Amino acid sequence: MKAKLRDFYWKRRLNEEAYKVLRRRGTERAFSGKFWNHHEKGVYTCGACGEKLFSSETKYDSGTGWPSFYEPVKESNVKFETCNKIIVPRTEVLCKKCGGHLGHVFKDGPQPTGERYCVNSAALSFKKE
Ligand code: FE
Repeated sequence: MKAKLRDFYWKRRLNEEAYKVLRRRGTERAFSGKFWNHHEKGVYTCGACGEKLFSSETKYDSGTGWPSFYEPVKESNVKFETCNKIIVPRTEVLCKKCGGHLGHVFKDGPQPTGERYCVNSAALSFKKE
């Protein structure tokens, strides 16, 4: 019942695309989101709860068509889960505060971390600096 109530809560508050990604672990089409080619300075926040997630300072062009970052604002603002939706397991990245699905993290990112946080635009909001 608790999970159902939570789902109802987010369904009423998020637009359809954001709901699909954040609450249903959806993935937007590459090159379709509002942030993959976005270059303003500021901070990307959770589209559901507003938690600060990624800084424009760590954003880079991965060529994938999704906003990509080499690290989160704070490691403690995100959480990780192993995702077995496809044959090769991937590491899912979620907002720690609200549990919303953001995207996945891969080990083929640039230095200094070597990580690539591949995030859906639909899961994010942006606060200009
Ligand atoms: Fe959140």
